[in-house]
Parts: sequence; structure tokens; C-alpha cells
Amino acid sequence: MHIALVAHDRMKDRMVALARDFAPFLRQHTLMATGTTGGRLQDEVGLTVERLLSGPLGGDLQIGARLSVGEVDAVVFLRDPMTAQPHEPDINALVRACDVHDVPCATNVAGARLLLRALQAG
Ligand code: PGA
Repeated sequence: MHIALVAHDRMKDRMVALARDFAPFLRQHTLMATGTTGGRLQDEVGLTVERLLSGPLGGDLQIGARLSVGEVDAVVFLRDPMTAQPHEPDINALVRACDVHDVPCATNVAGARLLLRALQAG
């Protein structure tokens, strides 16, 4: 499977913790992430990740584009609900692309745990 991972700045520690918990599972799949998130997953969790542009520079849009042509099977997108983001339109575009193409997208840690557990169970 191809799994995309994105975390806003204040959510990145939680993404790292989540990825550590699911590292054995995540290692079996092809991962892509926005730039800074991907860097942390590589450096702190030791995952192999295709790093796209940083979110505010278009990384969310890259994931949305890949997803729209069938190249992403699931998205973990830890959004920060308390901080305005300069790239809000891109965030909405990615979530919309998930809805258009019926790709599962978890936008908080509890949902992400459920999603990853479900994928793990096959
Ligand atoms: P980043 O992008 O992983 O490059 O920080 C995510 C975001 O903040 O949208």
C-alpha cells in the first residue's frame, strides 16, 4: 500500500509517536510525506519516506495530485485545529481529494490509530 503522512507543526511530535507505535507495519509499505514531516519520520523513527515539498510550499497539493491518479491508498493528516494555516486552501484540497476518490483519511490521532489498525488487520 501507499500511505501518505502529513502533520502540522504542533502535531509533529504526535505523528512521530504514532509512527513509532506503528513502525513495524509502516515499514512494510510505501510511504510519502510532506517535507518536514518526512524528515522527522526518517530521522527519529528510521522510516524510509519519499519526501515531497513542505506543506506550505505545495506538499499537500502534491499528495492530492498523486492520490487523484490512484497512487495513494490512505492518508494520515494530523491537522492543527487551533492554528490558522497559510495554506488552508491546499489543506482543504487534499481532504476534498480524499473524499472525491474515497481514500481513507484520518485527521486526528484517534482516527489515525483506528485507520492504521484496520489496515494492519488487512
Ligand atoms: P511539513 O508540511 O511536513 O513540511 O511541515 C506539513 C504542513 O505543515 O502542512
